[in-house]
Amino acid sequence: MSQAPSGGAAIGATPFVPLTIAEREAALLAPYAMHSFDSAGRKHAEPAHPYRGPFQRDRDRLVHSAAYRRLSAKMQVFTGELGDYHRTRLTHTLEVSSIARTLGRALRLNEDLVESLALAHDLGHPPFGHAGEDVLHACLAEVGGFSHNAQALRIVELIEQRYPEFPGLNLSQEVLAGQAERIRHDTHAVRPLLEVQVVEAADSIAYDTHDADDALHLELLTLDELLEIPLWREAARRVRSRYSALDEPQLKRTVLHELIDWQVGDLFEQAVAKINDLNVRSADDVKRVPLIIQASSTLAQQKAELERFLQERVYRHATVLRVRRLVQGELREMFEGYREQPHHLPDSFRARVETVGLARSVGDYLAGMTDRYARHEHHRLFQGS
Ligand code: MG
Repeated sequence: MSQAPSGGAAIGATPFVPLTIAEREAALLAPYAMHSFDSAGRKHAEPAHPYRGPFQRDRDRLVHSAAYRRLSAKMQVFTGELGDYHRTRLTHTLEVSSIARTLGRALRLNEDLVESLALAHDLGHPPFGHAGEDVLHACLAEVGGFSHNAQALRIVELIEQRYPEFPGLNLSQEVLAGQAERIRHDTHAVRPLLEVQVVEAADSIAYDTHDADDALHLELLTLDELLEIPLWREAARRVRSRYSALDEPQLKRTVLHELIDWQVGDLFEQAVAKINDLNVRSADDVKRVPLIIQASSTLAQQKAELERFLQERVYRHATVLRVRRLVQGELREMFEGYREQPHHLPDSFRARVETVGLARSVGDYLAGMTDRYARHEHHRLFQGS
């Protein structure tokens, strides 16, 4: 007679066996990925978490930051007044994260690090996107100007106040170094980690694709015009070879999917070939070899052509330029207004004047605002509430 299993466990069930972060990464990550075990750590040393790896904690800290939440009310290219279809800075960030993680997982990179870098990459954008950035750069010219990439570092190292032990988010050095690479851009003496390269490429795929989609929806462009651009023409040819009769909205959506999938697939194939050819066996090797995450030359050329087209037809469109002039005027007035009457600044920014100077503290305050809040504050300060 057989006996009933004791303790209620099913016969053959495996008891829970926890894996350490190092064991988990050894099983999943490629040797050239950034392993948590090799991290240079944090500026302010902290005890390890019992079951969350360092880059996972970075990701969580970013998600819980105020600057991250504010991305939901910051524009990418088009302000909220123009409609509710197009991307915000937050949805752009999530698209970048999604594409970067796809590529990162396929290449067996450290996905937690990829995601942290993606979530952080646009944190420093002021209200009104590049229009806001340009006017803040001019306002702050005497104290070193303004760049959204550098501002993201100021936010995560100084401005966020979330923890009693340290200013900022005390992120891992690899996340900070990856963001610092965005400031230097094409002058990499030492190549960035593959996790950093992947996010850079994903950012470009995301904005090229969704800016065209948003512009179509806002009728700044027509589908026929886009289909004359070689990248779109080729994507449409691929789509039509699979689907014979798509109406225009279906064709547009399917071409957009194809554009992302095609570009990610191309980056993946190029990367695998280079990793093998260059015999890349560690994260240190990555620093010494040419950039690995790069599109094939034909695709890169076609992408550059699309970007020239978008530059001309979308970013310099009369509707975009009109909004640009309006919001730049308002931000400049606010910058001067707070500088002349610093008592209007919130306590925390007034307190920082002593350490960073009045202009920079006003710049930090303005840069942190959402589009909505900036317009609201401008109205309150200059048109009476
Ligand atoms: Mg971006």
